Amino acid sequence: MDISKINKIPQSNVEIEETEYLVTACAGANGCPLTLVNGTEAEMGQKIASIIENSEITEKIAELMPPIRLKHHKLKISIAGCPNACSRPHVADIGIIARARPVLEGQCNGCRVCLRICPDNAIDLNDGFQLTDECIDCGICITPCPINVLDGEKYLEVLVGGKLGRHPHLGKSIAKFEEIEDIYAFIQAAIEVYEEHAKQSERVSHVASRLGIDNFGKKVLEKM
Ligand code: SF4
Ligand code: SF4
Ligand code: SF4
Repeated sequence: MDISKINKIPQSNVEIEETEYLVTACAGANGCPLTLVNGTEAEMGQKIASIIENSEITEKIAELMPPIRLKHHKLKISIAGCPNACSRPHVADIGIIARARPVLEGQCNGCRVCLRICPDNAIDLNDGFQLTDECIDCGICITPCPINVLDGEKYLEVLVGGKLGRHPHLGKSIAKFEEIEDIYAFIQAAIEVYEEHAKQSERVSHVASRLGIDNFGKKVLEKM
């Protein structure tokens, strides 16, 4: 790719910030060519912010925060339009990452274009087109195939429990959805699970850690 074109890609995330929450959408919404959700990241962020606003979670967070409350003590949700994860979904209470799994839909001619373009060396052409375990479903190899035999199975991965601070850890993958509407249902259900289980000084990531992230995810999925 021409480096001058890369430098023109908008890099700023879109942030919707209120006292009790911060919703971040990556720059896919600003024209990044790698978006796997057609640049709808900011729209998704607005919808998620409205779900938060229409719930009781802001009051719950305000009630439970520690006496010495810092600016970052809030619910954080982050949306990334591809696994490059520019909006840092791995360190949000709830992170959403769009992915696309390449699928061979025709006869591969072995031209090696996909192999050369893959940033992760995740394609094996020794016995036809195969993905290795290194593939992270970024979808970058799909469009450049000169004979269009690659398609992408798109999905949205949800991570829970990411945080920075005194005890940082990365969010854990707990669900994959094909429809954006399922993401909104997940957020709504996660808010309800938080409201039911949160204790003093706990944000969503703390509740998920205490209950066990898989268990928190199970409770959320049961409510959807
Ligand atoms: S996460 Fe992907 S789609 Fe979003 S700005 Fe970064 S590279 Fe572009
Ligand atoms: S989807 Fe991404 S990581 Fe997987 S083979 Fe294609 S370019 Fe490589
Ligand atoms: S770019 Fe397409 S035709 Fe070429 S090796 Fe990859 S899948 Fe096969």
